[in-house]
Amino acid sequence: MPYDNSQLQQFKNCPESYRLKYRYEKDAVTGLWLGLSKPDATKDDHHKDFGSAVHAGLRQFYLKDSWSGIEAAFDHEYPSQLDASDKAKTPENGKSLLKRYIKRYETQDASWEIIDVEVRQEFEIYPGVIFTVKIDLIIRQQGNIYFIDHKTTKMDSGIDTGYWIQFEPNSQITGYTAFCMERYGSCSGGIINALGLGFRSKPELFDPEDSTKGWMIYDAQELKYSKFHGKDMMYGSGFKCDLQRNVFSRNQAQIDAWKEDTLRWIDKMKQEEYAFESGKTTLPPSVPGHARTPISQWTKNEGNCRFCNYKEICINVGDEQTVEAMYVKGNPLEYLEQ
Ligand code: SF4
Repeated sequence: MPYDNSQLQQFKNCPESYRLKYRYEKDAVTGLWLGLSKPDATKDDHHKDFGSAVHAGLRQFYLKDSWSGIEAAFDHEYPSQLDASDKAKTPENGKSLLKRYIKRYETQDASWEIIDVEVRQEFEIYPGVIFTVKIDLIIRQQGNIYFIDHKTTKMDSGIDTGYWIQFEPNSQITGYTAFCMERYGSCSGGIINALGLGFRSKPELFDPEDSTKGWMIYDAQELKYSKFHGKDMMYGSGFKCDLQRNVFSRNQAQIDAWKEDTLRWIDKMKQEEYAFESGKTTLPPSVPGHARTPISQWTKNEGNCRFCNYKEICINVGDEQTVEAMYVKGNPLEYLEQ
């Protein structure tokens, strides 16, 4: 099975959650791995579905489709509101976000040569070790290759400097850069294309001359004199969005370090898998004479249980009735195929 960044992150968070999500059992007919997922994870799914719908709209935009094609692509992924309590992520707001995006970037992005849209590719990071990347967009600008990663993100006041910290270091960006270097011979960086969105019931006050708020657009905006600030200020309410981009680049030493680190994590996965399948650990027992079998699970990181979808399985120690009642089995790599 090829590896990808999501698998590695799941394993790093908790090896047992990785097993449950990606390696629960093999399909008796196809021999492919099946994973467990919760069918009622609708609260999480609505964020994912909304993000997929925005991605689908952006895909059509960069394929030079008309607005009706962009709108249809969004509607296909998010035809109705999935969580009534989320006033930001409605179908109307999603399409409003796309319209604002096009208005802002249409002229600027016209200079991009579109190389590839929604690339799903495998590449070998070491003989026999296949890594999969799924990249939203690859462009050439002034002779330089860049990859683009669209990110929808919920925000309170706007996309601030704290948001960008997560991309430096970041194994996903380094992996994508490694792929582009191999495929195109160079990569000048990755552009994180952030589409922030939120909702304000009560008006929020901001300075219209503040350049960091330049693309903060509300459904309802009113310019009014503020005694406190001594000048005209903007009062915005309703759905709002913020559109920002930042470029992140990696050098060869960083790519080599990423490959080395990735291979070590894959080694750890293989050790866990070997121990689980064979019932033998690959290390000497920590307590001499104390048998370490049977092995019925992968290593657990209980520091990460709070938001884990597999809590019920762990609480009931792998009980099969719990699995049957609360989870469905399916292709764990479906997200790479969409
Ligand atoms: S509940 Fe905790 S220990 Fe169990 S799989 Fe999730 S993170 Fe790991």
